[in-house]
Amino acid sequence: MTKQRQAVMQVHQMNVTEFEAAFQDEDDCKSYLANNRWPNGVCCPRCDNTEITEHGTKDWHWMCYACNQDGYRFSVTVGTIFENTNKPLREWFRVMHLILTSKKGISSLQVMRYMGFGSYNTALKMCNKIRVALSGADFRQLVGVVECDETFVGGKAKNKHGGNDKGGTGSGKGGSNKKEVVIACVERKGNVVARVIENLSKATVDAMALP
Ligand SMILES: [Zn+2]
Repeated sequence: MTKQRQAVMQVHQMNVTEFEAAFQDEDDCKSYLANNRWPNGVCCPRCDNTEITEHGTKDWHWMCYACNQDGYRFSVTVGTIFENTNKPLREWFRVMHLILTSKKGISSLQVMRYMGFGSYNTALKMCNKIRVALSGADFRQLVGVVECDETFVGGKAKNKHGGNDKGGTGSGKGGSNKKEVVIACVERKGNVVARVIENLSKATVDAMALP
């Protein structure tokens, strides 16, 4: 446990100031999303074709002619919980940051008040979507979440991931290492706020946090 705590210290959790700096507008959020989603360059979410072209008039939209001869148009948010939302990405990111940085979890009511949302239902829906999405590895990767000590996603992890017996924790002293916990962190220069750490060894964390 001592080892683990030590390791966690090295992961940098994004604070409010850093969040503000990293995500100043919608473009910042979309760029972040695109870079995490397609680290090797944009490809078609339908057919994985990498020979896509920029849409031209719509930013953060591309065309694929491999899976549709008339062209399949897709955006950076297609297939994510952010697709077809009427809330700015920045607000989604902010709510995620709130959830990820609140140690004891945050209620939808608190989110509503903090964000100044007009309706509780909006906050509730958003929080639920985020919490459900965060339980999937793909989404965690998409938004760059590092699994670490201390911060839980939506309550006690042992209740959510009881069946998880992913091996190789190395330091394995039984159940305590199996809790799935999440922390947001940021790379100094990059657009990557965090990544998923499968195996929380000190070496892994060091490699992640100290570029
Ligand atoms: Zn395609």
